[in-house]
Amino acid sequence: MSHYRHILLATDFSKQGDYVADKAKALADTHQAKLSIVHVIDNIPMPDAYYGMVISLTEASDDALLEAEKAKLINLSGRLNVDLADCCLLWGIPKQEIINIAKQQHVDLIVVGSHGRHGLALLLGSTANSILHYAKCDVLAVRLKEPDFN
Ligand code: AMP
Repeated sequence: MSHYRHILLATDFSKQGDYVADKAKALADTHQAKLSIVHVIDNIPMPDAYYGMVISLTEASDDALLEAEKAKLINLSGRLNVDLADCCLLWGIPKQEIINIAKQQHVDLIVVGSHGRHGLALLLGSTANSILHYAKCDVLAVRLKEPDFN
């Protein structure tokens, strides 16, 4: 069996995201693969930004919500022992940006949760569903069971 070399964890920082993150980390360790993390900001209006804009994790901004998102990503990178240089914070449409980043960075496995903040009503969340259909690499949708949603 060929091993994955570059795994991309797409996280929405939902409560169940830690479980998905741990699975991605375990897979990366097993395959001795590089692990990268991406979070796409779609809930903070950023009038001066264009879709796909990368947001610096090291430069401070005046926006408290943006700083909170950065802090969550930095915190997760520390917990998973992922270099900050391999963490990407972007502004845009999650499904599009996740697929783009995976392509640009030659990722061979994207790990997502089966549902996230938006997917409670669907069998498979809309982001997960689109990634599964349009990504050019393998996709692992980590099953999140309904009783876990609180
Ligand atoms: P959804 O399809 O929106 O219910 O979310 C399913 C999964 O897609 C989540 O568990 C995350 O792994 C990923 N995801 C959703 N939104 C984002 C986002 N804004 N940034 C990165 N990953 C996301």
